[in-house]
Amino acid sequence: MEITSFEQFELNRQLLNAVTELGYTEPTPIQQKTIPLSLENHDVLGIAQTGTGKTAAYLLPLLMKIKYPQGTNPRALILAPTRELVMQINEAVSAIGKYTGLRHLALYGGLGPKTQIEALQKGVDLLVATPGRFLDLYRLGEIVTKDIRTMVLDEADKMMDMGFMPQIRSVLEVIPTKRQNLLFSATFGGRVERLSAEFLEAPIKVEVTPQASTADMVSQVIYEVPNFRTKVNLLDYLINKDAFQRVIIFARTKSTAENIYKFLARKVVESDRIRVIHANKGQNTRINAMEAFKEGNIQVLVATDVAARGIDVAQVSHVINFDLPLIYEDYVHRIGRTGRANHTGEAITFLTMAEEYHVQKIERIIRMTIPRKPLPTEVEVMETPFDEQQAMLREIDEQRRKEDPTFLGAFHEKKAKNLPNAKDRLKAKSKLPGSKKAASQGNNGRSGAANRKTGTPVSAVKRSGSRGGRR
Ligand code: AMP
Repeated sequence: MEITSFEQFELNRQLLNAVTELGYTEPTPIQQKTIPLSLENHDVLGIAQTGTGKTAAYLLPLLMKIKYPQGTNPRALILAPTRELVMQINEAVSAIGKYTGLRHLALYGGLGPKTQIEALQKGVDLLVATPGRFLDLYRLGEIVTKDIRTMVLDEADKMMDMGFMPQIRSVLEVIPTKRQNLLFSATFGGRVERLSAEFLEAPIKVEVTPQASTADMVSQVIYEVPNFRTKVNLLDYLINKDAFQRVIIFARTKSTAENIYKFLARKVVESDRIRVIHANKGQNTRINAMEAFKEGNIQVLVATDVAARGIDVAQVSHVINFDLPLIYEDYVHRIGRTGRANHTGEAITFLTMAEEYHVQKIERIIRMTIPRKPLPTEVEVMETPFDEQQAMLREIDEQRRKEDPTFLGAFHEKKAKNLPNAKDRLKAKSKLPGSKKAASQGNNGRSGAANRKTGTPVSAVKRSGSRGGRR
């Protein structure tokens, strides 16, 4: 039976009213596929990225099951990797569970447990938690787990990336074995597969491919940019265009995020229209920045991947990847910030020659080639400073070695390779241009020179067939 309305799920009136109020007219594909299964009490493995409506996909049947407030112990547990995501899921529970009266609570670290303990003692029906904080409070004797009948793991791939497996195992040991399990993940690979084998019972796997959702909803484009300063110029140029009304700029590191923020706040965007969030920012600063961004009071949010996880803002006009994430799935999370349910958006990636390697990996994950555009003529192209050039060439060498461990390095291994043992090699390496100390001495970067001449950043990176895949 084709499902085109929420009425067909036979949810209770309280939930249907909330869904109507939220303006959801039609279930999204992941909702169509997983809600009936969850309602029938199956274990479900949902492969869906953020922006597909996955949160409501597990919340609706879950709230249907726990229905109304009862007793004092939680009857359902949702685990998520970060406090931002926990807060976001908890907000979704507030919205979708608005008319159910269910008592729900977000548990996360970064602040004292007192308020959370007080709320627990008043009685709750549903917990949304990071694994660490859940265990801390459990060990303090503040959570009674015996009535938990449903367990959800959200963004399971991220939890694996963040090394939460031991905590998840500990949680599983302290909750009843007779329960329904729902696991959601943006990607499905080795570790998530193992987790699901350990954690789910005869699960039914439902997949909404990122291919369809990212490609349909988000137009993606790459600009090849020779260096950091030119990236800054391009950013300056783009942000000033009218269409860039609500922009998230992603950076891999805290310091890059901070530098982008300082530059834009000084020269490009009015300082009260821009915020930055990263791990060094206090909890309150991050929450305030996200709220201000949600309300449309600021135009630009600069963020690192971890800080941005869980941001749910409709109508982000543009996502700019100032650089590429090293956890490739984060690319999918990043661009999922734009083009959310029923809005189209644009994701723009700035790419140096050292990032070419990463984009190839990402393109494999999203199963498409991201189109490239030439740099707008208005953008001033800067000379690449010597140190930056060296650093990029070193990175490219590293990448080639990763693909092919026998590769000796076009850039700085030549001298080292004839040395008798590993220790001597290391010593020699520290004297070569690869080391910080030597970074300002002479240019041995032959591959780099070739690159600069031809302007083809790819040549040094193209995979030379990763012989046997040894890594
Ligand atoms: P999620 O993938 O759970 O992060 O959801 C992405 C966004 O889609 C959120 O802002 C939801 O409120 C919204 N959403 C979820 N389900 C629907 C639906 N059926 N129709 C329209 N919007 C939805």
